[in-house]
Amino acid sequence: MTPLVEISNLVKYFDLGQGQIVHAVDDVSLSIHSKEVVGLVGESGSGKSTLGKAVLGLHNKTSGNVSFAGERLPQKYRSRDFQKHAKTMQMIFQDPYSSLNPRMTVGEIIGEGLKLNRALGANEVNQRVAHWLSLVGLSADHMSRYPHEFSGGQRQRIGIARALILEPDFVVCDEPISALDVSVQAQVVNLLAELKQSMGLTLLFIAHDLSMVRYISDRMAVMYLGGIVEVGDADEVFFKPMHPYTKTLIASNPEADPRSERQRISTTIQGEIPSPVNIPAGCRFANRCPQAMPVCKQITPLLKKPTVAATGEHFDENRQVACHLYD
Ligand code: SF4
Repeated sequence: MTPLVEISNLVKYFDLGQGQIVHAVDDVSLSIHSKEVVGLVGESGSGKSTLGKAVLGLHNKTSGNVSFAGERLPQKYRSRDFQKHAKTMQMIFQDPYSSLNPRMTVGEIIGEGLKLNRALGANEVNQRVAHWLSLVGLSADHMSRYPHEFSGGQRQRIGIARALILEPDFVVCDEPISALDVSVQAQVVNLLAELKQSMGLTLLFIAHDLSMVRYISDRMAVMYLGGIVEVGDADEVFFKPMHPYTKTLIASNPEADPRSERQRISTTIQGEIPSPVNIPAGCRFANRCPQAMPVCKQITPLLKKPTVAATGEHFDENRQVACHLYD
């Protein structure tokens, strides 16, 4: 079956000038099938958000391709491309504070996409906005209010309604819970899980909390320094991690405060993440890996299916890992 979204050898570099190039996303390939939720995890700076934005055309790709329902998307987006794809692809942003225009009412924010992309009268737009407000746990009375009158969790619900009111086929959720309190994070993830069931959503769900990602995702991909190091069934990756980086991420127990969570991950894994400007030869995780071997600093491990001979176990057929331990 043709995937709904096919990311092929996607590269996104940022040129800082004076010969300095940030390798934010480096040769990433990933397929996302219709009605599938793929979770994307990794530390800050791993390239997760850049990948999500490049898929939607919010960053121009350096090279590689993204296909949607079998159609190759443009290398560089022009405004008419955004107009065309707004109906099919949307994004839920990380920051529920800065992503909503403070001068617009909630009704105007949620209904804006409908006005631009559908020839609907004001009454019908208002009816649909009221319907979506109730779907995300708010009420029609909130339409005339402004974003500053809402809590962080409520603002993220407004952002979800804005993204989903056009009934897009594919949504990138770019760390939609990381700016929220833990109790509110669970509410927002539960809301997305309910909408996933009722609408058959296809999502790329980007986050650094692996337990939340496992809860909502069918498959999970782990990113490190611009590349995917492991991908597979979400439960399998979570309960039987193979890559030493995934094991370290999962061994780090979640904490209540997302800010201390980020700090904890960075202190649990030994050593510093290398600069994306000076990518090391061989395995990018080698300077931090407790199982590194001489070959690891010489030859880049490819993302491929682990063999039964290397693992002694059978894994889901979609399982892939980039590590010389499984060669
Ligand atoms: Fe560790 Fe080597 Fe595997 Fe990289 S390839 S994760 S350094 S064992």
